[in-house]
Amino acid sequence: MNYDYIIVGGGIVGLSTAASIKEKNKTASVLVLERGIFPTGASTKNAGFACFGSITELLSDIKMMGEEVSMQLVEERWKGLQKLRGRLGDDGVGFINNGGYEIIRENEAYCLDELDTMNKRLSFLFDKDVFTAKPGVIDQFGFNSDGVKSVIFNPYEGQIDTGMMMQSLMRYVQDLGVTMLTGVMVSSFEDEADRVSVIANGDTTFKADQLIICTNAFTPKLLLDEDIVPGRGIVLVTKPIDGLKFKGVFHYDEGYYYFRNHGNRVIFGGGRNLDFASETTDSFEINENILEVLKKELNTMILPNTPYEIDHVWSGIMAFGQNKQPIMRKVSDRVTIGVRLGGMGVAIGSRMGEKIAELVS
Ligand SMILES: Cc1cc2nc3c(=O)[nH]c(=O)nc-3n(C[C@H](O)[C@H](O)[C@H](O)COP(=O)(O)OP(=O)(O)OC[C@H]3O[C@@H](n4cnc5c(N)ncnc54)[C@H](O)[C@@H]3O)c2cc1C
Repeated sequence: MNYDYIIVGGGIVGLSTAASIKEKNKTASVLVLERGIFPTGASTKNAGFACFGSITELLSDIKMMGEEVSMQLVEERWKGLQKLRGRLGDDGVGFINNGGYEIIRENEAYCLDELDTMNKRLSFLFDKDVFTAKPGVIDQFGFNSDGVKSVIFNPYEGQIDTGMMMQSLMRYVQDLGVTMLTGVMVSSFEDEADRVSVIANGDTTFKADQLIICTNAFTPKLLLDEDIVPGRGIVLVTKPIDGLKFKGVFHYDEGYYYFRNHGNRVIFGGGRNLDFASETTDSFEINENILEVLKKELNTMILPNTPYEIDHVWSGIMAFGQNKQPIMRKVSDRVTIGVRLGGMGVAIGSRMGEKIAELVS
């Protein structure tokens, strides 16, 4: 029951933190406590975009947080992605680099004048231009071009297989000697002078030198005062589609909608902005109104005249706050948090784990 480190939350951040601690210190005893049978927040539910920000998102980030902070975030996401691929291997995460595309409608046409400036900003990190206009692909990929002004291509974006990535990560930490217990709900902790007591499933007490809380959207149940708001996202996947014309990851409406191929299936999610009030929740339900809009978008824009069937629909919970920076800090000598990953945590998650491990060791 006694460990050097206890990590609450077995998502990408919790598991990456466990991995980084053990990689640095083989003899440390590390316990991960996860409430679900599988990790059950965002990491097993996401759409598998290996991305670091589309041009409209980055322009909006710069407006909100300034250029320096926004570029730092891009750098952290990019480094995190390299860390994930390096640690688990491209085969271990199902990484495929078919590039990424942002569909630009009238409303977003302003960003076409910003391509050169943004590419210059990003040249500190990338050898080639990150964003290039490629309007021709709309017809090539079989999308409905009504209302589309252009498409912006990013050769550095890729896609992963979310389930495979999480399974590999769980195996990786267990091979390093991390103990992972699932079905364990942590309800509270007591920060004592020489240890932290972690109370789980009502009456079980674990003890640790250091407690690390990686519970993302669910953190307010353990720590009341953090600036964290849950945000639900809905995703659907179709059955395989004969002759599917596109490959790659696609975003539109400032990232509120996202779709990609997964083999010859289509994964499509988003629409949270249609009903922010209902989607500010940590309850895993399906908002039928949003699902209807997703189906309409599939029928009219993404797969016009292509018969398809939906195989499965699910929801996951993200964590947002006043800005897009994750929260990573010590809340006391023995308690650290690494949370609020927003809608792009696949890339930055591994980097967060690395930085948390540095902070606690
Ligand atoms: C629908 C959807 C689509 C997304 N698409 C993408 C994408 O394509 N690309 C991208 O980069 N990002 C995407 N994201 C965001 C990304 O998945 C998250 O940013 C990232 O997974 C967050 O990881 P985490 O480890 O911080 O949180 P989580 O994965 O939520 O992990 C937190 C864990 O803590 C556990 N937990 C919570 N409370 C307790 C407790 N009291 N006791 C024990 N365990 C507890 C939860 O069960 C959970 O497993 C998407 C998210 C969603 C929901």
